[in-house]
Amino acid sequence: MLSDIEIAQATTPKHIREIAETAGVPEQYLELYGNYKAKVDYNLLADEERASGKLVLVTAINPTPAGEGKTTTTVGLSDALAQLGKNVVVALREPSLGPVFGIKGGAAGGGYAQVVPMEDINLHFTGDFHAIGAANNLLAAMIDNHIQQGNALGFDVRKISWKRCVDMNDRQLRYVVDGLGGKTNGMPREDGFDITVASEIMAIFCLATSITDLKERLARIVVGYTGADEPITAGDLRAQGAMAALLKDALKPNLVQTLEGTPAFVHGGPFANIAHGCNSIMATRMAMALGDYCVTEAGFGADLGAEKFLDIKCRLAGLKPDAVVVVATVRALKNHGGVPKDSLNEENLEALEAGLPNLLQHVENITGVYKLPCVVAINRFPTDTEAELALVEEKCKELGVNVALSEVWAKGGAGGIALAEEVVRLCEEPNDFTFCYEDDLSLAEKIEAIAARIYHADGVDFTPAAKKEIEQLESLGFGAMPVCMAKTQYSFSDDASLLGAPRGFRITVKKVKVSAGAGFAVALTGDIMTMPGLPKEPAACRIDVDETGKISGLF
Ligand code: ADP
Ligand code: MG
Repeated sequence: MLSDIEIAQATTPKHIREIAETAGVPEQYLELYGNYKAKVDYNLLADEERASGKLVLVTAINPTPAGEGKTTTTVGLSDALAQLGKNVVVALREPSLGPVFGIKGGAAGGGYAQVVPMEDINLHFTGDFHAIGAANNLLAAMIDNHIQQGNALGFDVRKISWKRCVDMNDRQLRYVVDGLGGKTNGMPREDGFDITVASEIMAIFCLATSITDLKERLARIVVGYTGADEPITAGDLRAQGAMAALLKDALKPNLVQTLEGTPAFVHGGPFANIAHGCNSIMATRMAMALGDYCVTEAGFGADLGAEKFLDIKCRLAGLKPDAVVVVATVRALKNHGGVPKDSLNEENLEALEAGLPNLLQHVENITGVYKLPCVVAINRFPTDTEAELALVEEKCKELGVNVALSEVWAKGGAGGIALAEEVVRLCEEPNDFTFCYEDDLSLAEKIEAIAARIYHADGVDFTPAAKKEIEQLESLGFGAMPVCMAKTQYSFSDDASLLGAPRGFRITVKKVKVSAGAGFAVALTGDIMTMPGLPKEPAACRIDVDETGKISGLF
């Protein structure tokens, strides 16, 4: 089997004009970035009647660190739908350089289910992340300049919550002291960097529905507090106009293609812990406006990714999904059944069966809590045995769970026909999509609803600090916002080692903060990393480029 990049480089992509034609993008909205990438003007959305395509969400069981194949399945399912003659458009997140050079690698799918040009998509692409970083850092510069120029707004320099950002895994920058060097060189203070994808600008970018909405959201960002704990916003600094100017081109969704020539928007990529982990609303709406089917992905497992997609993104954007695909792998199920990560390649039917409750709980959440039709896609790995695959399928069927084997990694769209047929069938079923919680609950009640209904926890413990923060946020008028849970992706609980479908546990909320521009409150259940580090042997050590400009080692 060739590597992802070898497969991608062995195919001849179509000119992006052809892809735009397939997608039905009129020429006047198309802005070419070379031959294989284009941005599509958001004015297309204003001019399109309505985003009326079916919306299909791809999510997963609690993953192992390698990922279980959501992006791969999203791409392969779309190619399969195209093979069935459906008009389909993919919507995915843009990869961050952090994971590309770290452990996980890129995010353009895998095997024969990829979006291309994968080198560009995984590296600078169309420069969106640079624009987002620039907007973020302009705001940071304006904060410190404001303080230097007399601090009329009364910042307490110990309560500045806005950080600088860079799109790199660079732990060295987590905590810094800056403004050193005496009076002319700024006000010394403790500061820090987040990775760009963890910046609130990224979340805002992905939730904005227009330039005007973007500006209003940017203005609402709380950047710090006064000595008396009054919030100070980006609007108070009059920064929103210039920030939006930096973002105006980035906000246009990027059009690329799958290996089989299916149109794909790859746009925006917020972290799935501190933020909501889905591609931009602009891209989703554009895909739904152009395609009869929009297939999209949400980060991490369904307890985080699908929950936030449904309770945050769909709520804020007024979207109603038509079907949900839950990706499961034999490997991850064995892990949930007690097999350590280094032995997942060996057949183990008992462990596989013991791991099934994790999958079942995700499926029940989708069908029972959100009332959405659901199908399980078993993402076949080369190491899976026939007996293992048969067992998962048989057990799912016994329990009345829709299931389809997906071989898109090895076969492209042809390996996803059964899955695609089931998705088409589910999309025809009427559904009573319901949120997990309503807007009018208090912040604490919303967190409790997610913990009880999605995680199946016995309850939530709020630390005294978290209680105080909730009180403050509610008194400032942020109580009606949805809650963005920051939690480990490995478990339904807040303890990464509790695999399967744990019972008899409680969730601890340590901190609650507001992303006022994005429009959600963030509840942190553990130490959430907003600036990752590189591993001992970073993927960067294997990436290279030859004399002709051909890149190798990306995956
Ligand atoms: P996710 O989106 O869930 O994080 P990805 O689709 O990015 O997962 O896949 C993670 C990694 O696993 C990628 O490197 C991909 O090539 C690989 N992968 C996915 N599915 C398969 C499969 N069926 N067989 C082998 N490798 C796979
Ligand atoms: Mg992915």
